[in-house]
Amino acid sequence: MNRKVIIIGSGPAGLTAAIYAARADLNPLVFEGNQPGGQLTITTEVENYPGFPEGMNGPEMMDLFRKQAQRFGAETQFKHVTKVDFSERPFKVWVGEELFTSDSVIISTGASAKMLGLDSEKELMGYGVSACATCDGFFYKDKKVLMVGGGDSAMEEAIFLTKFASEVWIVHRRDELRASKIMQERVLNHPKIHLHWNSVIDGILGTKETGVTGVMLKDTQTGDVREDSCDGVFMAIGHTPNTSLFDSILDTDSKGYLVTKGESTATNIPGIFACGDVKDSTYRQAVTAAGSGCKAAIDVERFLELSD
Ligand code: NAP
Repeated sequence: MNRKVIIIGSGPAGLTAAIYAARADLNPLVFEGNQPGGQLTITTEVENYPGFPEGMNGPEMMDLFRKQAQRFGAETQFKHVTKVDFSERPFKVWVGEELFTSDSVIISTGASAKMLGLDSEKELMGYGVSACATCDGFFYKDKKVLMVGGGDSAMEEAIFLTKFASEVWIVHRRDELRASKIMQERVLNHPKIHLHWNSVIDGILGTKETGVTGVMLKDTQTGDVREDSCDGVFMAIGHTPNTSLFDSILDTDSKGYLVTKGESTATNIPGIFACGDVKDSTYRQAVTAAGSGCKAAIDVERFLELSD
């Protein structure tokens, strides 16, 4: 059955697009991907989404988004899209061998955590190295852990880790944090959190058998390298947009984010729209992603009206 709209990705952007498209009677099909609910499902409390004065647990919030979309007729499938062909309409979308077609597509594939690119980091991923404090923090009860990064994510996750760890050391490459003032204050005043200023990790020590036992810390000003013991290393150094499906199909900017036209969510291919973090390297908030998902569904509605 040919669809009016397929939505690829199920974070705040994709599920908001699904709510609006479903209420517009477009019967959207949502492919939820490898991380149903998107990045909010690996966060703790969402304190800045309007309408929730007491804060809200990220996974629960995404369950509510999904239920709201389903209530109006959106179909959501826990499937990961593996290939697309946008060269003609209807557009083709594959999940393995299974082919789906649609008159329009909304891309809301989000962004994924960046890593340092060290061999030792790859080797020890899941054995003491993690990019998700919410997922793995529990394993570090009364241990010493490092958190790499100086942005809001690193601050938020460092604070979360203090629930379990005895000591949390933030490793930041400069002498000034990038994070918002309120998060900086919380971290700098926290008795369990300490900072390694002007420092980067040059290598992670340990084996799959022992887990992480320490790191080699390099001073970014003097170049000196010294060993520091720890039981876990968490990364929070930013994100890369999930665009590999659309390589050489859709236009991207210099950082690899999908490009959309003006205020709209239209990509360079008429009928293909993008919203959320996959096209936003600046704001990257749940509420801005939801707003752009709403815009994508309205853009699709108008596109389908004009092209029918
Ligand atoms: P970010 O703001 O881009 O911060 C990334 C941090 O990682 C920076 O401090 C950066 O250092 C450091 N970094 C990057 N590459 C590195 C490398 N190779 N080695 C060592 N350090 C490296 O990313 P984010 O913290 O994920 O936040 C992204 C956006 O989401 C921001 O707009 C943020 O405000 C927002 N956010 C908001 C909340 C909230 O409001 N509760 C929570 C999380 C995120 P430099 O500073 O030196 O560049």
